[in-house]
Amino acid sequence: MADGKCAFCNYRVSLSAKFCPKCSHPLILHNRYRLLWQEGKGGFGSVYEATDIKLGRRCAVRSFLRQGFFAAQ
Ligand SMILES: [Zn+2]
Repeated sequence: MADGKCAFCNYRVSLSAKFCPKCSHPLILHNRYRLLWQEGKGGFGSVYEATDIKLGRRCAVRSFLRQGFFAAQ
């Protein structure tokens, strides 16, 4: 069984886990986007590399402070 890493604390997590057992951050957003790692951080929030599970391809997910997560290309 493949392992992944929590994008928030780098804790090793199972790929089927929906939440990190260590920091309890969600690892899958909207049942569709699996967060892989943090790509960058800016004034508005953070950008995460993610996998679009439905389409089976990479995408970027942005998190805006106070507004939650949004998928972007
Ligand atoms: Zn974590």
